[in-house]
Amino acid sequence: MSAEPTNCEARLAELVELLRRSGLAEVGAVGFDGLLLEHFGSQEEAEEVLARAIDVLAASRARLFLAADGSTWLGGLSCGRFVVAARGRGRHDFVPGLLSAVLSPVSCPRCGFDVSFALVRCRRCGRPYPFLAPLCPFCGEPGVVKRCPSCGSRLLSDGRPAARRLPF
Ligand SMILES: [Zn+2]
Ligand SMILES: [Zn+2]
Repeated sequence: MSAEPTNCEARLAELVELLRRSGLAEVGAVGFDGLLLEHFGSQEEAEEVLARAIDVLAASRARLFLAADGSTWLGGLSCGRFVVAARGRGRHDFVPGLLSAVLSPVSCPRCGFDVSFALVRCRRCGRPYPFLAPLCPFCGEPGVVKRCPSCGSRLLSDGRPAARRLPF
């Protein structure tokens, strides 16, 4: 078992802000010892998704979960005594990577910029989506190679350097 990060609250707040700003989740909540600390979407729904996430995490004894039911997804993660929960619609393949980045930040290997909760703009539909997502969650356009928002290096969605473009 890895050591608990000491900055759970700040990282969870960043994650929730990303989910709210991008429109990728309809409801998001951060709880501490089961109490709702901050949220977006309706408070009633935020309390509901938080309670469900706490139940699922306790039952599975896992740090992270993602459940999908038809067109709706629900994800949650525990970090120390904090829990984050979010619910959205549509593509959800970006959710586990984004949640994991709370515990294991992803940084640009060249300049050290933390890309964990950065947004990039989709070249097809124009909407901003998480740097760590390998494709646009809104339209499905692949976005495996991206530019570091700080130094412009070409990076893969998981933060590794992208191979040089081949000369043909
Ligand atoms: Zn798109
Ligand atoms: Zn960089």
